[in-house]
Amino acid sequence: MTDQAAPITVMTSGASGPYPVFVGCGLLGELAPLLKEYAPAHRYALVSDSNVAALYGESTVLHLRDAGLGAELFTFEVGERNKNRARWSELTDGLLRAGLGRDSCLIAMGGGVTGDLGGFVAATYMRGIPVVQVPTSLVAMIDASIGGKTGVDVEAGKNLVGAFHPPNLVVADPDVVATLPGAERAQGMIEAVKHGAIMDDAYFAELDREMPAILDGETTALERAVARSVELKSAVVSEDEREAGRREILNFGHTLGHAIEAACSFRVPHGTAVASGMILEARLGVSLGVTGPDVVQRLEQVIDRVGLPSSIPDCAAPDDIMTYLASDKKARHGRTRFVLLSEIGAVHPADGSWSHPVDDQIVLDLVNAYGPRG
Ligand code: NAD
Repeated sequence: MTDQAAPITVMTSGASGPYPVFVGCGLLGELAPLLKEYAPAHRYALVSDSNVAALYGESTVLHLRDAGLGAELFTFEVGERNKNRARWSELTDGLLRAGLGRDSCLIAMGGGVTGDLGGFVAATYMRGIPVVQVPTSLVAMIDASIGGKTGVDVEAGKNLVGAFHPPNLVVADPDVVATLPGAERAQGMIEAVKHGAIMDDAYFAELDREMPAILDGETTALERAVARSVELKSAVVSEDEREAGRREILNFGHTLGHAIEAACSFRVPHGTAVASGMILEARLGVSLGVTGPDVVQRLEQVIDRVGLPSSIPDCAAPDDIMTYLASDKKARHGRTRFVLLSEIGAVHPADGSWSHPVDDQIVLDLVNAYGPRG
C-alpha cells in the first residue's frame, strides 16, 4: 500500500453525512477491517456481475468470512443490458430469500453497472440499507462510485429510474485494473480527462504526460490519477449532491456526447461519444469567443493518447444528433445549454449558472462542419 491509504473524505451535503473514499493498491486485502470500521453490519451481501464475481467476488467473500464477517455472493449476468428492473427484482428477491435483514449491508463490487444496480437494490431494500462501493473498472473508480447516484435503465432511456443513495464507504484498489481490458481502461480515462479539463490544468497536463503508463497499469501513475479524479469529483458533489448548481460542470462534453450516443443507438461506447462531445463543445466555446484557442488542440492530443478518435463517429448523422439534443432536458425554446471551458482547467461561468444557452442553428452548423459528412 502507498501513502494513498489515508482516505480522501467525501463530504456529502444534506442528511446523508460524510463518507470516506479510500484509494490505494492492495486495499482489497483490507476490506474486512474497513467494513468493520465504516460499515458494520450483521451480514454482507456482495453483489457483482458474472465477470467480476469470478475474478474477485468469490475470493472476497472468503476473505470476509475469514475475518469473521457473514458474507454471501449475489451475481447477475454482465453487461449494461442487465442494468434493468428485472435484475433489480431478482437480486432483491435473492436477498430476501437469504433472509438478509435491515441490519445488513450491500457491497457493490464491479464496474459502473454493478455500482448503479447494486446501489439501487440497497437504496430500496427494506426502505434502504447501507451500501459500500468497491469499484473495479476505471469508469467506476474515477466516476460512478462517487456521488451517490444509483439506478437502472428502462425502455424510455438510460438511468431514468433510480435514487440518490450515497455509500457509507468507497474502496478503490487500482491493482484490479490489471485484469481490466485495455478498451475499458480507455473509457474510464476519458472521464479523468474531463475532470482535468474542467477543474485542474496541472492534472490535465499530468494525464497527457502519463497516459501511456496509466493505460499500461503502471501502479504509481494509475493510483495518482484515480486519487486526483476522486478528489476533484468529490469536491464538486460535496458542494452540490443533488445537482442543483455546480455539479452541472460535470456535464462538459456530455450534452453532445449523449446526443451522439443516442444517434448511434448506443452502439458507440459512452467514453468514445464523450471524447467527441468534449471536442465539439470546446469548438463551440471557441466559436462563441469564450474558449481559448489552444483548448481544442490540447484535448485532441490527450484523447489521441487515450487511443480514441476525436471526430464524430460515422453512425451519428447531424439531424439525429439535433433531434436528440432537442429532447435533452437542458434544451428549451430552440436553445440547448452547454458547459463551456474558458481554458483547460476552468469552466466559463454563465449568468447565475454554469451552462450557456446556445441557438440550435449554431450547434447544427458546427455539427455539419465537423460531422461524418463535414
Ligand atoms: P461495466 O460495469 O459493465 O464494466 C465494464 C466491463 O468491465 C464489464 O465487462 C465488467 O465485468 C468488466 N470489469 C470491471 N472491472 C473489471 C476488472 N477489474 N477486471 C476485469 N473486468 C472488469 O461498465 P462501466 O464502464 O464500468 O460502467 C458503465 C456504467 O456506469 C453505465 O451504466 C453508466 O450509466 C454508469 N455510470 C454511473 C455513474 C454514476 O454517477 N452513478 C457515472 C458514470 C457512469
